[in-house]
Amino acid sequence: MKRRKVLLVGWDGVRDDTARRLALPALTEVADAGRWWTTTLPDVDVAPTVTAVGWSTILTGVWPGDHGVLANEEELNRLHRYPEVLTTAFCERPTLATYGAASALIFGTTFGPGPLFGPGVRTVDWVDRRHYPGKFTETDPLIQEAAERQLREEDPDLAFVYLGETDQIAHDFGTGVEYEGAIARQDARLARLIDCLRSRPSFADEEWLVMVTTDHGHLDEGGHGGGSWQERQSFVVAGVLGGQAQWAEDAENVDIAPTILTHLGIPAPERYRGKSLRGTVDAG
Ligand SMILES: [Zn+2]
Repeated sequence: MKRRKVLLVGWDGVRDDTARRLALPALTEVADAGRWWTTTLPDVDVAPTVTAVGWSTILTGVWPGDHGVLANEEELNRLHRYPEVLTTAFCERPTLATYGAASALIFGTTFGPGPLFGPGVRTVDWVDRRHYPGKFTETDPLIQEAAERQLREEDPDLAFVYLGETDQIAHDFGTGVEYEGAIARQDARLARLIDCLRSRPSFADEEWLVMVTTDHGHLDEGGHGGGSWQERQSFVVAGVLGGQAQWAEDAENVDIAPTILTHLGIPAPERYRGKSLRGTVDAG
């Protein structure tokens, strides 16, 4: 019986249509080991298509009406009752090694509705991007380096790695060639993370679920928060390295958290609004 582990990679503000058009090698490799679903965020009568809302939904497994993060601004919410999936998993299985790496303020500080990282994220690599003039263009490489070391040398069971440069570039330049270049850089980073998993001495005894997702899309000219299809588009890519699985036909972003827990053999809590994308019966 292989040890089951999870790597969830978060890319901020990556449009599904752009990512598909670019035929990204690493993302395609994960999808070939599983599936790539196009997903749609709730319309703005539920919540705006902004970063804090998007990641709260992805990580808590419930919709904005439940987790209560309805903007990027400081506000009361229910994250203490709807913790992110790392804390949920850790509370169910305290031997689990959970790992989070991010440089966006909402994960590691009380900025806006944060911190999104709860007490069950037991190892954190955190960089405060306010100290770096180039923002995510400077901090993503630092987060990437830390995550690579963690995945190569340590023994995480459930890892979340957040990279934000794509959103920054879209805000600065729109969704043209600079944006495509930033998405390609995220994909190159994903390739290196997967290389780290494969280089683990224990890799042959492990079964890694790799998932990649995004919190919202972008208008062609850059910018998000509204209800256009460009802003509401998202995606989920999931694949199992060194294993086979059956996958659901359709997906929503609230399905990510229950998929992670199911892979780890932890029952999804009743509060969850989604389903496991991985079937319980393996194909092989
Ligand atoms: Zn965002």
